[in-house]
Amino acid sequence: MKVIKIGGGCLKNGKAARAIVDLIAQKGLGQIFVLSAFGGITDMLIHGIDTALQNEAGIVPTIEEMTQHHHHIIDELMDVTPHAGQLKEELESFFLTLERYYYGISFTREATPRMKDIIASYGERISAVIISRVLESRGCRSEFLMPDVAGIITDGKYMDATADMTRTRDNLYPLIRSIMDERKMLFIPGFFGKSRDGEITTFGRGGSDYSAAVVAAAVDAEVLEIWKDTEGFMTADPDNIPDCRLIPELTYEEAAELSYTGAGILHARTVEPARKAGIGISIRNTFNPEAPGSMITDHARTTDRVIKSVSYTTDISVLKIFASGVGARYGILSQITDTLARDAVNIKSVVTSQTGISLLLARDDLDRSFNALKQVKPRPFRKMQKVSGVALVSIVGEGLHRNRGIAAKCFTAVSQAKVNIEMISFGTSNAALYFLVKERDLDQTINSLHSTFFD
Ligand code: ASP
Ligand code: MG
Repeated sequence: MKVIKIGGGCLKNGKAARAIVDLIAQKGLGQIFVLSAFGGITDMLIHGIDTALQNEAGIVPTIEEMTQHHHHIIDELMDVTPHAGQLKEELESFFLTLERYYYGISFTREATPRMKDIIASYGERISAVIISRVLESRGCRSEFLMPDVAGIITDGKYMDATADMTRTRDNLYPLIRSIMDERKMLFIPGFFGKSRDGEITTFGRGGSDYSAAVVAAAVDAEVLEIWKDTEGFMTADPDNIPDCRLIPELTYEEAAELSYTGAGILHARTVEPARKAGIGISIRNTFNPEAPGSMITDHARTTDRVIKSVSYTTDISVLKIFASGVGARYGILSQITDTLARDAVNIKSVVTSQTGISLLLARDDLDRSFNALKQVKPRPFRKMQKVSGVALVSIVGEGLHRNRGIAAKCFTAVSQAKVNIEMISFGTSNAALYFLVKERDLDQTINSLHSTFFD
């Protein structure tokens, strides 16, 4: 039994969804599908919250737009009109509920994280019902199961939840096994679960990949397939390096590192549950289903080159904190990280020296972090400096720390591109080396690295 995740990019319109439905009809019996929302719907749902906060009159058009969007998809997917009509009727209660939530937000002028998660979950709820019903109308034995009903249990953290694997497995294993014993295809919405108190909590944007890994681990799936609109992990971003190549095999560590820096192929935490359960992750291109894609396992082959990919993110900024004796005093780091944790700032990475601490943060978190730390009394540091306009580059390959000359080769390539390195982090991962460059130097850096390691 496989768990197959279908991404929003493959469901971006009726035509794309039709290709997927054809593929599922051929290959889907006996498999579990974890679905994203149809492309663009989660954004629409979240945008609807802002609309409701600003202007009550915007709610009806928002609901109307969402309804029409889904109706078009249904019309594209279902040939038989009575089936389509029935399905549209079935979905009405979803849209009605959403409308009520929006009016509640408008009336109270308050959109809590709790409310945002409830609303955001509707894209996946709706896509799972639609795809399941469409297959049923084609004569397939198909069923859907809501994650809150099935019992995907989370730690309750809104918009960034983590699954409680023990409880989730206890709930999912017997339930899903018994459904699958009847040889059906099963559709489960991705992206959310419920806390132990029953609160709907999402796994963060792009979290359906993680949902799929959670389900795969909970039911001991033989493999987790991620169906996407791309080939798989590449040696670089094709937007920068048009002749970059597919990476056929990766370790969990390599995939995790690449997911953190930009590659955009997988939600960053997808690897965790799969690795723990020893389940391989196969990335497949739905527009080219016979292509091999990328396979992630713990025994993925390393290559002579060691380095498998050059990746980057521009969603990065640095907060430099100057303090004397950082390396000799205890408690400074924890004071800083505790302060930021209270403000729900995610620290992407920390680099320290005797005279300072550099925090790597998402761009949107820079000012907020600066202001929060300014309030700390007594101040445990001398001064702070905000650094923006930078990009984080990484070269990824398991064992790079063990192979002589890789760092030298990397930094020679950067220097040949006449680029100055702003900061380096090396040695904390067995599979990645990170450094910062000015954003304007990014293209030269990536080009030079890619030709050094792959030409
Ligand atoms: N629909 C959600 C999002 O757009 C989750 C996902 O697609 O994975 O973020
Ligand atoms: Mg996604």
